[in-house]
Amino acid sequence: MSHPSATRSATLLQHAGRDARLGSGLVGALEQSVTFATTRVDDMPIYARLSNTTNHVEVCALVAALHGAPAARVFASGMAAIHAVLTTRLRPGDHILVQENCYGTSQGLCQKILSRWGIEASFVPLEQWQAALRPNTRVLFFESISNPYCIPQNLAFALEAKRVSSGLLVCDNTFASPINCKPFLHGVDVVVESATKYMNGHSDLICGAVACGSDFAQELAVTAMYVGGFLSSAGCMHLAKGLRTLQVRMAAHNANGRAFASAVRELPDVSEVYHGSLCAMQDDWIKDFAGMVTVRFAKHIDVSRLMRSLNLVADVPSLGGTETTACLPWWTTNRWMADSEKQRLKIDEQLVRFSIGLEDVNDLLDDLKQGLALARR
Ligand code: PLP
Repeated sequence: MSHPSATRSATLLQHAGRDARLGSGLVGALEQSVTFATTRVDDMPIYARLSNTTNHVEVCALVAALHGAPAARVFASGMAAIHAVLTTRLRPGDHILVQENCYGTSQGLCQKILSRWGIEASFVPLEQWQAALRPNTRVLFFESISNPYCIPQNLAFALEAKRVSSGLLVCDNTFASPINCKPFLHGVDVVVESATKYMNGHSDLICGAVACGSDFAQELAVTAMYVGGFLSSAGCMHLAKGLRTLQVRMAAHNANGRAFASAVRELPDVSEVYHGSLCAMQDDWIKDFAGMVTVRFAKHIDVSRLMRSLNLVADVPSLGGTETTACLPWWTTNRWMADSEKQRLKIDEQLVRFSIGLEDVNDLLDDLKQGLALARR
């Protein structure tokens, strides 16, 4: 099922996880059955909650191969994946060091849920991680490209904190995708992704993925067996189909993201633009920056009117689909954060996070310009 001869993502995406035995379908069939008979009574039971049906095996092989990791598991959502990873490692009394200004719901998971079990979290920029380590720091959590600011993170700081603390280094790679960044190959212990976004890529499935070493995958399997949160067999088949086109979709997202960011920066109605291609310091562990572009519009722009005036950009709280979407972090990703905290992180109501899709970028720019003309106060 795996193809050790292929190492390049484009080839792995077409072949990893496929069962090419004579007589089998070119595309894995959807096995609706929640369970399968095994040959011996003492064989491991095959049961969807254990994520070991043929559809799970196919998609997990594909995700692992893509990341160059020994193992992968899939979950019912990105948050289920993150929750499973964190609760597999953390125990009451432990400390988790989290990158400041990462996805609001990941912060909320630490502050509102893990805290119930006596786990303390600190939110600190990566460059200050080493000073923030504690003797009980057991997990270090960061995003390769941060949400909502689309800023590529400097891996060296994370690796140094891991070396000093021997904490589990976990990277959320959702914004980059495994085409642009393969954190496991650079020394990260566990990669988590909201596969809802670029990996599935069509805004029609909520799912999460984890790529890691075999030992951690075993521990994760135990958590998942008791907690659930697994992806259904139909979800696995759906995700595998989305993944097969990831390489070509990412090439277009990368090009459009760059073009949109550099053109928008020139507009008089815009005060700041965030995209990896515009960052002064770029670390080559991230090859390109996808279609995530965050824009702070000038005060004279009525952003809610702008959002309603755009014809080609849907105002929705997701990203990574073939179509361009946008959202206001103030009201979506960071909605549940205290206003004072949002203000400290400079997340205000002028900030819009775009996910640039596969349209012609000139049409998107024309649409934005006509929207801005209607939204000037
Ligand atoms: N991580 C990041 C960076 C995200 O942007 C999101 C969702 O937007 C998640 C995790 C959670 O993913 P899901 O919605 O699939 O649970």
